Amino acid sequence: MADGIVGEYRSLQRETDADLLAMQVGDFYEFFAEDAETVGDELDLAVSQKASHGSSYPMAGVPVDDLTPYLKALVERGYRVAVADQGDEETTREIVRVATPGTLLETDDTDSQYLVAVTADDDAYGLAACDVTTGRFRTTTIDGRDPVRRLLSELRRHAPVEILPGPRLRNDETITAELQDTDARVTLHEPDAFAPGRAKHTLTEQFGTTSILPEAAAMRAAGAVVDYVAETGVGTLAAVTRLETYSPDDHVAVDETTRRNLELIEPMTDDGRSLLSVLDHTETSAGRRLLSEWLCRPSRDKTELRARQDAIAALAEQPLQRERLREHLDAAADLERAATRAVSGSADARTLLGVRETLSVLPAIRETIESMDGLGVDSIGGALTRQADSAGTLREQLDALGDDPPKTLRDGGLIRRGYDDQLDELIDRHETAVDFFEGLAEREKRRHDFSRVTVDRNKTDGYYVQIPKSETDAVPESYDGIKTLKNAQRYVSEELREHEREVLRSEEARNEREYEVFCALREAVGDAAETLRTLGQTLARLDVCCSLATHAAKNGWCRPAVTDEGVLSIEAGRHPVVEQSVEFVPNDLHLDRDRRLLLVTGPNMSGKSTYMRQAALVTLLAQIGSFVPAEAATVGLVDGIYTRVGALDDVAGGRSTFMVEMSELSHILHSAGEDSLVVLDEVGRGTATYDGISIAWAATEYLHNEVGAFTLFATHYHELTTLTADLPRADNVHVAVAGDGDDVTFLRTVEPGPADRSYGVHVADMAGVPQPVVDRSRSVLDALREDRAIETRGGSDETVQAVFDLGSGAFREHDDGQTDSEDDPIPPETAAVLDEIEEVDVNATSPLEILSLVEEWQRRLR
Ligand code: ADP
Ligand code: MG
Repeated sequence: MADGIVGEYRSLQRETDADLLAMQVGDFYEFFAEDAETVGDELDLAVSQKASHGSSYPMAGVPVDDLTPYLKALVERGYRVAVADQGDEETTREIVRVATPGTLLETDDTDSQYLVAVTADDDAYGLAACDVTTGRFRTTTIDGRDPVRRLLSELRRHAPVEILPGPRLRNDETITAELQDTDARVTLHEPDAFAPGRAKHTLTEQFGTTSILPEAAAMRAAGAVVDYVAETGVGTLAAVTRLETYSPDDHVAVDETTRRNLELIEPMTDDGRSLLSVLDHTETSAGRRLLSEWLCRPSRDKTELRARQDAIAALAEQPLQRERLREHLDAAADLERAATRAVSGSADARTLLGVRETLSVLPAIRETIESMDGLGVDSIGGALTRQADSAGTLREQLDALGDDPPKTLRDGGLIRRGYDDQLDELIDRHETAVDFFEGLAEREKRRHDFSRVTVDRNKTDGYYVQIPKSETDAVPESYDGIKTLKNAQRYVSEELREHEREVLRSEEARNEREYEVFCALREAVGDAAETLRTLGQTLARLDVCCSLATHAAKNGWCRPAVTDEGVLSIEAGRHPVVEQSVEFVPNDLHLDRDRRLLLVTGPNMSGKSTYMRQAALVTLLAQIGSFVPAEAATVGLVDGIYTRVGALDDVAGGRSTFMVEMSELSHILHSAGEDSLVVLDEVGRGTATYDGISIAWAATEYLHNEVGAFTLFATHYHELTTLTADLPRADNVHVAVAGDGDDVTFLRTVEPGPADRSYGVHVADMAGVPQPVVDRSRSVLDALREDRAIETRGGSDETVQAVFDLGSGAFREHDDGQTDSEDDPIPPETAAVLDEIEEVDVNATSPLEILSLVEEWQRRLR
């Protein structure tokens, strides 16, 4: 038999590509062999040995009713688990579902749970993202500039739990490596599911129309998602009823690096705080999900942003009502998820109870909103009014649910009296039958003059009468002893058995009817899924607006003016996260079309990074519709926020090499445009001084002349500050310090003009580097400055060619670049060395060899 079972297990394993198989054997789901070992290790489950015919198999099992929590735990660890149920005949088992990270409905996790498919065509990439727990399903096509990076950025923005790469992308090493680098499970779904014909068919079947079909690459991704969910889930697809096609350009481009640098969702260090965690005062998990989505997808839609601002303003100004709303929201359940579970038939009574409670607080929420200025008919209040009316009947229906229903659905206790005639009759019948036992102990006691009689019921004995041992002589003929205990004896009788049968019959009929009524309720909730989802989204929006209003009121934030003009003007701005932990010194910032690039200088730790991030965060907050940490602000809407922190300044460390730094710089120079905000923090620092300075120099010119983006560039290359002389739309600011020598006080105020000097050597001095070394580095620095010059280029329309002599601090004009090289021909020996440098294959040369090469070059140059 065991061999037979393990044999069957093996053959089912061959049918599925899941990692683990749970197979029902009677009252248990069993894992065998290596699966048992894995499950045992992962879940700390006892593994026993199943011995049979001379061989022995590890075996681990969980009770049938307990499978869900184990499934969840395994799936959360990234496994895909196939579940095989036993049919009526004991030997016919088949796989009924595959639980995977992206298709699990039973999640407790409040975060979104995106399953994302990505595909490639010749000229475009497609992405489809579906959260089966809420029924959200959206798809987009990515083509044009830098598509791979934008695809990956769009992918990561969804924080997927499972990714389905299309067949073509599986051969792409860059993309494969990037996918492996996410927290998501990468699943290689059947390639055919990505084929255009099949995808089109799948989508048409699912949505019943071809009018929604997106472009080819996106359609193939969406088709694969639906195909995959259909294959793995029971009923899961029923909740996926809408497919939204969007363009990534609808949102502000915020790439992965920027999301990380600005610590939007996750802090960079363990003891840090993310913007999300600071802003989050939401009461519901749907609200939290939405806030996080707003932060990852800031909007460029002025009308939408103003609507959000209006709501936040109204809520910020009316604290009493706001607090009342938050209390009501606290009682609201996750309607989007509840609706989905109802549709797929997996909602239990508690889920429906959550729906009822949420619908019950709606009138109070509405009333509060109606009592408020400015949150009236057109915004959230209006939406709520429309949806609440259609949900009113449903709430009445749900009154049929008891107040404290059990988790199980077939054991009764779900439905109240008075909602179903047939059930009421069955309840009467059941209660009459149970009544017999209620007074039985007392009746028997009196009839036979016992001192003590107990009547009770348990699983093995059913109903019984229990008499103390000392009185068993007085027991009547009709009593049938069934069990002897230490001090007592248990009996049943024919009369007892007769009544017991009636209790069982009526109980079963009652439970069955309760289950039927429950299923009808669940269906009613499922039928209202669309309304409930929209309602859930409205409540989530209200929750987020309350949260942002709460934060704005508590921290004295202001409503920014959002405009299409190219301007970023912040009065007394603060950093939203840093202001939580220190006495913050506010700063001003002003950028416009004629002043679009600022070089930020100042000593280490003076506040340069903070100042620039603050500008990026204020812009981002304005574009989620939030108030901002400032006394006043005017924010011109941007199409992208790009940040790069130099390799040496990347506090997360390790990940960032100079190569990464440069490829990200390249991305920014390619992607940013006139309407973008660029923040460069110590870029160029990851390499030797002259390399670094040259790259920083050239990047600054390019951003100023070609890209035209609003740019903040913090640099410790003091030399760069002279650039502003020739770049008409660039300016210097510095973070002020007071004092000199060992005694520098950080003032944290940002002032016009460059810092008065470079502080590198000064910092070395402060840090206690021995005086001879400090002195020597000063003289080396001076020598270097005398020796070297850097060329600067003006705007393309007014090309100025000049050589800046760092020693004299002045420009020497040149006619043009060509004559420059004719004037100063490179000596042949230098040229030879340069050629050799160019030819060295860095990857194929050991560091030692490089060292000796450099030594050799230096010798020749001298
Ligand atoms: P830099 O980039 O110049 O090295 P940072 O921006 O990292 O300096 O700032 C260093 C520290 O100074 C920050 O961690 C912060 O605590 C503090 N700080 C920065 N700006 C301010 C400010 N405006 N008000 C108060 N503290 C500030
Ligand atoms: Mg810094």
